[in-house]
Amino acid sequence: MKNKVVVLFSGGIDSTVCLAQAVKIYGNKNVIAVSFDYGQNNSKELIQSKEICDYYKVEHVVIDIKNIFEFSNSSLIKKSNRDIPHETYDVQYKKLKENENVSTNVPFRNGVMLSICASFALSKNAKVIYYGIHHEEGIAHELYPDCSSEFDYAMDMAIYTGTGKKVSIVSPLVEMSKKEIIELGTKLKIPFNLTWTCYEDNEYACGKCTACIDRIKAFKENDLVDPIKYEG
Ligand SMILES: [Zn+2]
Repeated sequence: MKNKVVVLFSGGIDSTVCLAQAVKIYGNKNVIAVSFDYGQNNSKELIQSKEICDYYKVEHVVIDIKNIFEFSNSSLIKKSNRDIPHETYDVQYKKLKENENVSTNVPFRNGVMLSICASFALSKNAKVIYYGIHHEEGIAHELYPDCSSEFDYAMDMAIYTGTGKKVSIVSPLVEMSKKEIIELGTKLKIPFNLTWTCYEDNEYACGKCTACIDRIKAFKENDLVDPIKYEG
C-alpha cells in the first residue's frame, strides 16, 4: 500500500499543479486535499477547490479556521473594511509606511495552515504534505515572508521534528517562477479552467487585482490564453 499524502489546497494554479503531481505519484485514492475556510472574502476559492478535487476524484476536507483571523484587518478577510488593491506589488510597496505590509497579507496564514496539515497528516497516517510555495519575483518575496524558501525549510524542520520524524513537507515548485509553473501545469494537463486565483468575490475573475495581474502575465509569457472568464 502506498503512503497517504496531504495537499495544502487553495484551488489556485500552484496548488492544483501540486495536486496533479501527488495524484500522478501516489494515485488519487491516496491523496487528501485540505482547504481552509479562513474567513476569506472570495467564496469561489472553496467552490473551485471542490470542483478540482471532484475532477481528480480525491478526498477534499475543508477546515474552518475563521476564528484565528478575526483579529486581522487583511483585505482578503470578509469582515475587513479595506479594499483589495488593483495594483502590482511594486506600486503598493512604494506607498507603504514603515512596518506596514500589503493589505493582502494574512498574518502567518501559511504557518497556521501547515501546522494544522501536520496534525491532520499524523491523524490520517500521511507522511508527506505537498505545499505549492513558489519562487516569488521581486518585492513579493519580502512582502510574504511565510512564502519564502527559508520559511519552507524552517517549517519542514519544525514539522519533521515535532511529528517524531513521521511527516515532512514536499515543495515541488519552490524554485519555480509562475511562468514555469504554468508550463508544468500544461504538461500535467491540469484543468486551468477550474482554477481560481482572483482575490475579489465576483462571478468572474476581476483581471485587476494583484493575483489576477500575476496570473495574466504568466499566461502571456507562455504564449497561452488563460481559459477562465474575466469581468468585462
Ligand atoms: Zn482579480
